[in-house]
Amino acid sequence: MPCLFCSIIAGDIPCQKVYEDESVLAFLDIGPVSEGHTLILPKAHAENLGTGLAADAEMLMSVVYKIAPSIMTAVGADGYNLGMNHGECAGQDVMHTHLHIMPRKKGVARSFAKTYPSQDSLAATAEKIRAALIV
Ligand code: 5GP
Ligand code: ZN
Repeated sequence: MPCLFCSIIAGDIPCQKVYEDESVLAFLDIGPVSEGHTLILPKAHAENLGTGLAADAEMLMSVVYKIAPSIMTAVGADGYNLGMNHGECAGQDVMHTHLHIMPRKKGVARSFAKTYPSQDSLAATAEKIRAALIV
């Protein structure tokens, strides 16, 4: 079976894109734990950091540095959790290296429970983030 995230990168499966450059794609998680929950992934397939290139980690963090402030501005967040599930036993469901940015707001209880917003709602959030992006 083809890798889900490789299919998204190839454009065969749609996503709510937030950021893209020659080596990285960032899009909204379909099951966000908070508004603006974004996945950042290297375009080159590797299961996780263990089988990918050392440069992948640096690349993903440089994109966090670029886009996290705009994500926070767009959704009115005050901070964020960064997360990476490395391996099935750690909760990795999609075997293509990715980093989660989960925006957080002061006074709002931190939950890691998934929500399932409509595509229209995800599209509106992605649009707000792209508009706020200064890269
Ligand atoms: P993992 O558990 O592997 O760290 O995270 C995979 C994430 O991918 C999950 O949070 C899940 O909601 C998200 N996801 C799964 N399928 C899709 C999809 O088709 N599109 C998008 N945008 N996100 C997905
Ligand atoms: Zn892949």
